[in-house]
Amino acid sequence: MDEKIVIIGNGIAGSTLALQLAEKGAASVTLISDESSYFFSRTALMYVYMGHLTKEQLEPVSRESWDQSPIQRVKARVLSIHPEDKELSFRTSGGDEKQLTYDRLVIATGSKPAFYDWTGQEAEGVLGLYHLSDLEKLEKWAPNASTCPEAVVIGGGLIGIELCEMLLSRQIKTTLIIRESFFWSSHLPESDAQLVEKHIQSHHLNLIKEDELLEINTDETGRVSSIQTKKGETISCNLVGITTGVRPNIEFLKTSQLELDRGILVDDYLKTSDPSIYAIGDCAQLRNPLSNRSAIEPVWYTGKLMGETLAQTFSGEPTPYNPGIWYNSAKFFNLEYQTYGRVQPKASQPESEQHFHWEADEKAMTFAYDKTSGAFLGINTFGIRLNHRIVSSWVETAITLQEVIDRIEEAHFDPEFSHRYYNQIKHAFVQNN
Ligand SMILES: Cc1cc2nc3c(=O)[nH]c(=O)nc-3n(C[C@H](O)[C@H](O)[C@H](O)COP(=O)(O)OP(=O)(O)OC[C@H]3O[C@@H](n4cnc5c(N)ncnc54)[C@H](O)[C@@H]3O)c2cc1C
Repeated sequence: MDEKIVIIGNGIAGSTLALQLAEKGAASVTLISDESSYFFSRTALMYVYMGHLTKEQLEPVSRESWDQSPIQRVKARVLSIHPEDKELSFRTSGGDEKQLTYDRLVIATGSKPAFYDWTGQEAEGVLGLYHLSDLEKLEKWAPNASTCPEAVVIGGGLIGIELCEMLLSRQIKTTLIIRESFFWSSHLPESDAQLVEKHIQSHHLNLIKEDELLEINTDETGRVSSIQTKKGETISCNLVGITTGVRPNIEFLKTSQLELDRGILVDDYLKTSDPSIYAIGDCAQLRNPLSNRSAIEPVWYTGKLMGETLAQTFSGEPTPYNPGIWYNSAKFFNLEYQTYGRVQPKASQPESEQHFHWEADEKAMTFAYDKTSGAFLGINTFGIRLNHRIVSSWVETAITLQEVIDRIEEAHFDPEFSHRYYNQIKHAFVQNN
């Protein structure tokens, strides 16, 4: 009889695994998830509120393909797992509680927004931005600027800036409060952060730095009316977005005996402390991450790669997870951002890592290199898209920065990126040296 594989969570990690296993046809696969019947692109949630996409257009795989695939899909909430019986309990949308057995179980339950016990955080008008239900809350609480004239967003990572862009697209006056002295300082060198700050402020975002949320105040109906900051400022608002990071979504495992830390601890093969249970995506925490990499990397590409890796292992080719070169991409309003390899922000930049920053016309590149050997370590690009394969291979083979600059045209990707910038970069590099 086919091995019975049960996957909890139909995000990028769980769906990638399920689809690849179905293609190989070797196992019976059940995908159980509570948020939606079909896999959707969480990274594009903002475009639904902004009117660019419908919810169905968020789905990278057609409903027809899912319906025709042998994968059994169950829309239900898993309440607990019982590894000793290889069984889990779940609640269907109709409210029935049921059990399901497995031979191998994969937990791919993603993240949830991190809230920090602020007074008033349960009030009507306070939300995170992660789930489809957050879009529904936004439509209810902030459909337009007459219902919601003012909003405050707390925490300036990628999700925070997306929420600001969403609110501003409906003419809602928006303030972003960040604790740090410059934008996304946990990830960006100061010069990059300054470029992003200038860009977002040009879109009428009110940016308050070096302050924090103290508490959320409500009116007599229980709806948000203002917030108080630690520095004593009161800002009136009808909506508060909390985007102070995400946490692995693992509460339902607390009684399972699985070894947990911030996430579900997994070995190099993505196996948990129970030999029949694996974890992938945002909820997985690597026991042995590579140096300079995080044990939990809550990004799309990590979930996809973990799903692909586990599909290989389950198909009889045991494969350790190799995160490859760090890569991520995002948009700050109209400013495209890509990052490859290692470009450390000031706080964590070792002495051996040097940066060369070039900037013109709201476009920038920050190259990181090793001070002694000149080896290229990584790059941040803004407003310019580079060829993923080529830049990754440059980081992987650690060619010198000099070579990268000499060959920068080879990484050309963006049709709108005028070739004249290459000469500018080369010229600036010579001047810099
Ligand atoms: C607004 C936003 C923008 C983002 N932008 C980017 C970006 O630009 N680039 C990037 O790399 N990353 C981005 N990310 C992060 C990226 O979306 C996540 O890293 C990725 O979606 C995580 O995938 P996953 O499969 O691990 O989990 P998820 O996508 O979270 O899927 C897990 C699913 O499991 C379900 N589930 C959880 N617990 C249970 C349970 N007990 N029972 C049943 N079902 C359960 C959840 O409801 C969820 O649907 C963004 C995230 C957000 C929210």
